[in-house]
Amino acid sequence: MRRRLLVNALIFAVLAAAVALAYYGYSFVVTDSSHDRELQLMREITADKVNNIESRILSDDDKLFSVPLEDLTTNLDRLASTVHVVSVFVLDEHRTILPSGYASARSGKEGAEFRHWFEHYVLPTLPLASAGAERGHVHLPPSLDTWDGRGKLFSFKKGASGDKTYYVVIEEDLSYLLALVFPQYFSLTGLESKRIYQIVDANDELIYGPGWHPDPGALQEHVPFPYTVDGWFVRVSEKDDSARKEARRKRVVDSVFVGGAVVVLAAGLTFLVFAIRRERRANELKSEFISNVSHELKTPLSIISMFGEMLANGRTKGPDQATEYAEIIWRESVRLTRLIDNVLDFAKIERGRGMYEFAEADVGEVVERAVDLIGRRLATADMTIAVSIEPELPLVQVDANALTLAVMNLIDNATKYAADGKKIELTMRREPDRIVLDVRDFGPGIDVDEQEHIFERFYRARAVRLKPIRGSGIGLALVRHIARAHRGDVQVVSTPGQGSTFRLWLPI
Ligand code: ADP
Repeated sequence: MRRRLLVNALIFAVLAAAVALAYYGYSFVVTDSSHDRELQLMREITADKVNNIESRILSDDDKLFSVPLEDLTTNLDRLASTVHVVSVFVLDEHRTILPSGYASARSGKEGAEFRHWFEHYVLPTLPLASAGAERGHVHLPPSLDTWDGRGKLFSFKKGASGDKTYYVVIEEDLSYLLALVFPQYFSLTGLESKRIYQIVDANDELIYGPGWHPDPGALQEHVPFPYTVDGWFVRVSEKDDSARKEARRKRVVDSVFVGGAVVVLAAGLTFLVFAIRRERRANELKSEFISNVSHELKTPLSIISMFGEMLANGRTKGPDQATEYAEIIWRESVRLTRLIDNVLDFAKIERGRGMYEFAEADVGEVVERAVDLIGRRLATADMTIAVSIEPELPLVQVDANALTLAVMNLIDNATKYAADGKKIELTMRREPDRIVLDVRDFGPGIDVDEQEHIFERFYRARAVRLKPIRGSGIGLALVRHIARAHRGDVQVVSTPGQGSTFRLWLPI
């Protein structure tokens, strides 16, 4: 009953776990794709802004780049005084600054020093002469080498005047970008938009934008400026990350549930595997049991009928032989009765019927009676039993018939399997809170790995299965059931080759 309930509960749990897993799989895919969509959107919007900014730089530059060479060299100071430019250099094809080819917002000594630094440190690094570099940008990140330690952005273009090649290099005003261009595309406070845009350098240090630290779990993208300030990135983050936080919290809870579901499924599967193995084993044992029992019934019956027939036909050599035949018949019928008792009692247990009737009794007496009843069987097996029962054992609540059956089964087993040992020792004594009965034999013993199994119904040890020793495998199962019904138990201690001791104990 309890087992069936357990199985039903387990089936339910496995189904629930499977449904939960399917649901979590589905919801994971859904949240994951919404997550991807949002990221994609952030990336596209930002790339668009970056593109606009870079186009602005390019078109601002074009105003200078499109001026003819003569105008440049005559009017450079005026031309260079636009907002986005700090300095302009006009170089000939040998990359030498032309006379009047330098104009700068830096004046006097500072301007001259800058020119010197440009010629020595920047010019050699500009890819002016290289093929394909008609136009380009070089971004120097802030470092000790950048003259004033700040970042610098140079734009250059190759031009031609008649058959002469020349180059124009513009030092862009980055503070103009920060102060006037970026604010047109990105909010400095981050209040208006649901996304926060910040310009950061390669080390994620803030260059422009709200000093706001995005939550590490919020969606975030870094979009580079591909052509111009290539060391800078627009870091776009989701401002309201509560949905993300909620999703994360949910994910934690979900992982716990998914873990639980997996455990339940694994447990269900393991249980199933065990149940199948158990069932298969039980079936094997049952068919073995049926053949054993049939054999056990047949053998005594044919002995009884054979000797009975001999007696009936007077085929005896005298009264002694007649008595001997009668004894055989009697012995076999006792054996038959016990077998049938065992089977019937066992069937009762299997059907779960209450089969015990408890009454206060002297267990010492009960055990002595059992020994008496089986005495004759011992004599035929040519064995002796030494009984030692502690006097004045306390009275306990027992089912005397059941206990007799248990003791007889233990002694009967010793005569069947340990006849070589010739003797059996039965001791019974009191321990503080229990009465202990030991049945010790000196037979072949039981292999360690089988010691627990022999108490299972229908189980017979490997060593005896092939021998002509009759048995059905229910005796010890019955003994254990009886012991446990008395709130005690039975155990075996056995060393192969040195005999076995079956210990049955009852609580006081
Ligand atoms: P059965 O005797 O009908 O086979 P039991 O349940 O009484 O069934 O015993 C189960 C098995 O335990 C036996 O088949 C035998 O292999 C083993 N066994 C029981 N008692 C002993 C013993 N005293 N010595 C060795 N083996 C034993």
